[in-house]
Amino acid sequence: MTTKHGQRSDDPARQGNLGGNLPTKGMLINGRWQPAASGRTIVVENPGRREALALVPRGEKEDVDRAVEAASSAFSKWSRMPARDRGKLLLAIGAELEAGQEDLARLIASETGNALRTQARGEAKMVADAFRYFGGLASELKGVTIPLGETQLSYSRREPLGVVGAIVPWNAPAQLAALKIAPAICAGNTIVLKAAEDAPLAVLMIGEVCQKHLPPGVVNVITGYGKECGEPLAAHPAVRKISFTGSTNVGKAIMRAAADRIAPVSLELGGKSPSIVYPDADEDWVVDGIVASMRFTRQSQSCTAGSRLFLHEKIFDGFLERLAARATALKIGDPLDEATDIGSIINEKQFTRICDYISEGLNRSEARLVTGGLPPKEGPLTKGYFTVPTIFADSSNEWRLAREEIFGPVLVAIPWRNEEDAIRMANQSHYGLAAYVWSRDIGQALRTAHAVEAGWVQVNQGGGQALGQSYGGVKESGIGREMSLEGMLDSFTETKSVNVNLDLPPPKSFR
Ligand code: NAD
Repeated sequence: MTTKHGQRSDDPARQGNLGGNLPTKGMLINGRWQPAASGRTIVVENPGRREALALVPRGEKEDVDRAVEAASSAFSKWSRMPARDRGKLLLAIGAELEAGQEDLARLIASETGNALRTQARGEAKMVADAFRYFGGLASELKGVTIPLGETQLSYSRREPLGVVGAIVPWNAPAQLAALKIAPAICAGNTIVLKAAEDAPLAVLMIGEVCQKHLPPGVVNVITGYGKECGEPLAAHPAVRKISFTGSTNVGKAIMRAAADRIAPVSLELGGKSPSIVYPDADEDWVVDGIVASMRFTRQSQSCTAGSRLFLHEKIFDGFLERLAARATALKIGDPLDEATDIGSIINEKQFTRICDYISEGLNRSEARLVTGGLPPKEGPLTKGYFTVPTIFADSSNEWRLAREEIFGPVLVAIPWRNEEDAIRMANQSHYGLAAYVWSRDIGQALRTAHAVEAGWVQVNQGGGQALGQSYGGVKESGIGREMSLEGMLDSFTETKSVNVNLDLPPPKSFR
């Protein structure tokens, strides 16, 4: 059965029982695979082929309540298990995920449209690595002692918060799910994780592996739409912490919901990240670095895409010409084809949104199209939601394409003359997630790295995040840090201080 021409995630045609003979998945609640209480389902599509892949439950408040109840019941026993024993279970999950990483990668490529070779394999590897990394850190959930004097024992404990409600988007669904589940349960919490409606299958597969090793209720994975399933999870009174990755607008709504009960939140939100290239970096490795930092091989559906390129005016035209040649040489096609560098956009809604931005750029008189443009109207690329790498040159940092997160392969290049101007323009954004600086003069590069308002700056490289590094944004790109030991401690535990008076009078019997 095919869901033709991209029913969107909120399209009624994707709801109900349109699945025919499609595999039907359940949600993981209390160790069992369960349908939605309503019996309703959502069709998951392969966006590279516009073909339906499977049905997942369309979870709603009643399902959220069941999952939170299961997580609450599992908490007491799980949180009291010695941390090292919890860590061992995470290591076993990591080993099993590693053994099955090719299957996971294929599933990720099928449901997200991200190319198997350039993206999905790396993501599947990161999933296994995340469980291993946090499993190995279990013994580091340590408190401290405070020297308050000989008659005081003062120490702190890192205690789990309780039930964590986690919500992830579709662009790196498996990786982001692993990066929430692993630290949350390692620290002794239990979790209810809502997968994205567009890409829930790999997350369910991770849930399946977790369930083989964990007591029921420790990890619960639910599926459904944001309004129907995500909102009741964020608002649930028994959810003691919300860890959300997604768009800034939804992040704000989550923060408001959490404020009602003063529940802590970690928000990993959108970005419009600057890449600043100095004139001494007019080299081919930097051109390759810009291709990587713009995440062209992920259709730029990445929160850390360096989508504002500030090129020094001296090198502007020549650099752009080489960048255009490099971006155009990338092969766009079926995500599962080994030859493919760039896969497809996730769904029709995003595809149309990206095309609207490109049309706006094409109609702007001040902007010059360097390469790309609207997707082809015929040929093999019309089988899926394929877009082409597109670069506009413009002198302004002010227009919509230079300000808004497009979440597609549209790069705006802007020239600069003085370092001050480059930094001012880079910081002229309500976002502050990532930034990239390119220069052989390391003093100059670090000066800029420190001046840029971003949670993560890379100098002379454009790769992805690494485990062990605290990751998160400033300004409207988010709050809180994850992905590291410190991130686990800050985001998934709370500190309890205990004071003990050691100066008691002798017991009566000794007087
Ligand atoms: P989105 O905010 O629309 O959805 C993300 C998740 O939130 C989905 O599971 C969705 O069902 C759920 N959701 C939607 N509305 C909700 C509501 N009212 N209450 C509770 N949950 C709700 O984002 P998206 O379009 O799926 O993902 C793209 C966005 O995610 C981009 O803005 C991107 O920058 C951001 N992102 C950020 C990071 C990061 O680490 N900072 C990583 C990946 C993606």
